[in-house]
Amino acid sequence: MNKLVEIKDLLPALVELRRDFHRHPELGFKEHRTAARVADELRALGLEVTTGVGGTGVVGVLRNGSSDRAVGLRADMDALPIVEATGLPYASQTPGVFHGCGHDGHTTMLLGTARHLARTKRFDGTVIFIFQPAEEGLGGGKAMVEDGLFERFPMNEVYALHNWPDLPAGTAATMPGPFMAAADVLEISVKGKGGHAAMPHETPDAILAASQLVAALHTLVSRRIHPADSAVLSISTISGGMTNNVLPGRVDLTGTVRTFDPAVQARIEQSIRSVAAGIGIATETTIDVEYRRGYPPTVNDPTCAEWMLEAAGVAGLKAELATKPSFGAEDFSYLLEHCPGAYLWLGQGRTDDEPPLHHASYDFNDDVIGDGIAVFTKIVEGRLSASD
Ligand SMILES: [Zn+2]
Ligand SMILES: [Zn+2]
Repeated sequence: MNKLVEIKDLLPALVELRRDFHRHPELGFKEHRTAARVADELRALGLEVTTGVGGTGVVGVLRNGSSDRAVGLRADMDALPIVEATGLPYASQTPGVFHGCGHDGHTTMLLGTARHLARTKRFDGTVIFIFQPAEEGLGGGKAMVEDGLFERFPMNEVYALHNWPDLPAGTAATMPGPFMAAADVLEISVKGKGGHAAMPHETPDAILAASQLVAALHTLVSRRIHPADSAVLSISTISGGMTNNVLPGRVDLTGTVRTFDPAVQARIEQSIRSVAAGIGIATETTIDVEYRRGYPPTVNDPTCAEWMLEAAGVAGLKAELATKPSFGAEDFSYLLEHCPGAYLWLGQGRTDDEPPLHHASYDFNDDVIGDGIAVFTKIVEGRLSASD
């Protein structure tokens, strides 16, 4: 439990607010109701509010004292296209849209931080509250950066956190350097000719070529990447063929590639192309590879990561240095490409068999709302110290 007893009076209303967001989830770039609610809240607190930043993004600015230093705090607002299976009284009222990643909790914790800091103001400088759209795959963070987030709202550092069900409530973890992976999309088509399955000598076999390709691609991480580096390549869909006596003319594959290092990423992309070209020649098929780069890796500034962990400790949480990064991806990475900062996992696990993020039964743990506010508050009070 965090040490901020002075936020206790804020918590009952924030639990209600979190459940209101949960009842009314919205998909990426469609967070109109959520953004309007956020903007109203921030205006009521007396912040300068700008809406429509990078689509449905909202930025609130809180100033105090005379320092020109500024710290940014970021939350994401979007939900997922999942049919909710929690059975909760505050379950989604929009069928097929669900806060299955806890962004309802993130939005609430950042609004709670704004409520707390607007009344205590124990800092000297500017706090920039960033509510971003479309974290789930659509790059709302990138949209805000391209809409001039850092030029319009200059800041020295930027911080974010994500609720983390693998860590028990009351703990927090981060680490310097790469913390979340780059996520790239792989789409491959293998084209033969199609023909009778009893006469395989008359048609290039797209099924066999695709099978060889799957096996060969899964050797790339172990054979082409330095053993001390890390990457994941997974072929996750394969489709082709309709019946037992026909060799299909085409087989399609999709997959994902996760990396932390641009050199490893480039090596894997180039290796996928060369292996595909080789198997195409060997099997007399045509193999087309589309490799799309997605979110870049989330790379924590080492000093900011240290400060964030320290802030979590000062806030009374069990602050741990993470031992390994996650191969999940996060579009806060775009903000970290332009501004030093750090990203932290906020423990929220209640039981050992807590459903994971993106599971239809997942629900943000309201007990950690105060923990998130405490971490953000201590970051602001530490980095914009009024006593400096
Ligand atoms: Zn998610
Ligand atoms: Zn998320």
